[in-house]
Amino acid sequence: MNLRFLSLASGSSGNCYYLGNSRYGILIDAGIGIRSIKKTLKENNIPLESIIGLFITHDHADHIKAAGCLGEKYHIPVYSTEKIHVGMNRSYCMTEKIVSSKHVIEKEKPLKLQDFVITSFEVPHDGIDNIGYLIEYNNQKFAFATDLGYIPEHVANYLRQADYLVIEANYDEEMLRHGSYPYHLKYRIANKNGHMNNAETADFLAHNITSQLKYIFLCHLSKENNHPDLAYKTIEHRLTQEGIRIGEDVQLITLKRNHPTGIYVF
Ligand SMILES: [Zn+2]
Ligand SMILES: [Zn+2]
Repeated sequence: MNLRFLSLASGSSGNCYYLGNSRYGILIDAGIGIRSIKKTLKENNIPLESIIGLFITHDHADHIKAAGCLGEKYHIPVYSTEKIHVGMNRSYCMTEKIVSSKHVIEKEKPLKLQDFVITSFEVPHDGIDNIGYLIEYNNQKFAFATDLGYIPEHVANYLRQADYLVIEANYDEEMLRHGSYPYHLKYRIANKNGHMNNAETADFLAHNITSQLKYIFLCHLSKENNHPDLAYKTIEHRLTQEGIRIGEDVQLITLKRNHPTGIYVF
């Protein structure tokens, strides 16, 4: 069975991704309303009952909004670290607390769920605890690295294994510097426990791209401090400098903030 990927929403106002096959799948984060999740899954012929797990990256509102509802009302097991579970259940933005659907995972310990093997790894960010995921399915590897200030070597080790990579390109440095955000917010975004900017992501990719990597999905773009074309062009330019042909050696896709992508079948 082919691997299927769908981005339901990506950006600081909400993140949710689907990864599955024709029979079942998982969600990564649930930072949009339950109605949007149900509507988008339905439009793509994915029954909510076919979701066998929800995996949370960290306890920020734009990643957890519908997690309590999916877990407790729709009985989808919610997986994350103990700390992230504590953070989620303290959060004001989740109306239902996660109790019976709570499943604790440990970083770097692979979890097998049907034909998926899911491994989480720590990333530097300012949630109570923060993780990315490497998901293996029939010798294909899909990596998620969203909301991270930089990429330490242990994270790079996971990302270099990927055939498909969802990686943050949150802001453009100039746009953030000259933008309207107050100083403390600019600092929070740009520091080592904040977010990756376009140039940092471009640099990481230029140094770490492998011949195995087929798709790069740029995620979590800021509305105020980035533009999809700018993110795309910054990364395209940098990779072209390295002799990598976009569209031939690797596909580069900018994920939309408020619009689902439609299903990619790999
Ligand atoms: Zn976020
Ligand atoms: Zn965050």
